[in-house]
Amino acid sequence: MPANLPRVVIVGGGFGGLYAARTLAGAPVSVTLIDRRNYHLFRPMLYQVATGLLSADEISGPLRSILSRQRNVEVLMDEVVGVDALSRHVHLPAHDLPYDFLILATGIQYNYFGHDEWQQIAPGLESLDDADEIRGKVLLAFERAEELAALGHAAPELIQQLLTFVLVGGGTVGVEMASTPHCDAISAISIPPRRQSCYMRQALACYPRIPRRFPPRQSVTWRRSVSKSAPVLEST
Ligand SMILES: Cc1cc2nc3c(=O)[nH]c(=O)nc-3n(C[C@H](O)[C@H](O)[C@H](O)COP(=O)(O)OP(=O)(O)OC[C@H]3O[C@@H](n4cnc5c(N)ncnc54)[C@H](O)[C@@H]3O)c2cc1C
Repeated sequence: MPANLPRVVIVGGGFGGLYAARTLAGAPVSVTLIDRRNYHLFRPMLYQVATGLLSADEISGPLRSILSRQRNVEVLMDEVVGVDALSRHVHLPAHDLPYDFLILATGIQYNYFGHDEWQQIAPGLESLDDADEIRGKVLLAFERAEELAALGHAAPELIQQLLTFVLVGGGTVGVEMASTPHCDAISAISIPPRRQSCYMRQALACYPRIPRRFPPRQSVTWRRSVSKSAPVLEST
């Protein structure tokens, strides 16, 4: 890329960063897109990986392939650890990168409301690794329940305990997870379907109105649909 063009640095290759890069196609600038992973993740489908409906490669694609036809962009896989707005540099762990224009599109982080220790037992759903972890935990719980059921003399409460899932948060992720059966897990075990429904419990814990940003009437429709697979426990 010509060195004399103004350099636009974009941090983040999610929807925000990717579309910013695409919008600059043909503009007289050189674009450097930096992301800590070298692929774009279609986050709205992430819960389907966590529940076993889709595989990771179905919802992700290499950033370089997606942008391969765009001449004025380069992709770097690295983590931005700071920005010096005065000298116009982004800090990477090993070196600094100058910019003329900076676009920060780094997405959001989950908020554990001062209880970061909860993250160990209740991971958020931000990345493919998170989705794998959640899927693994769910599958393992089903396997353990299967084993107990196979023994024949295990207390039903013990099995039910293993198959009880509580989702905290009635935003997009919580509502979509609560509406989706754990397909992989369910098809992997041989507890008869009729008995599965006796054992399996799923609940969504959330604010009184879900999702909060939706108008009340729409919230009622969502709630009705979620309640079919998971009772809604209201809490603030
Ligand atoms: C399960 C789920 C379902 C959703 N459903 C919908 C829906 O139906 N409709 C809808 O409109 N929205 C939906 N959303 C929300 C939507 O996915 C987000 O609003 C959107 O992904 C945000 O895009 P973004 O570019 O801001 O951030 P992200 O997509 O989070 O991208 C941020 C990128 O920045 C990178 N990054 C972060 N920090 C650094 C750093 N320091 N250095 C380098 N790289 C960094 C990350 O690796 C990531 O690739 C859903 C989200 C989830 C999780």
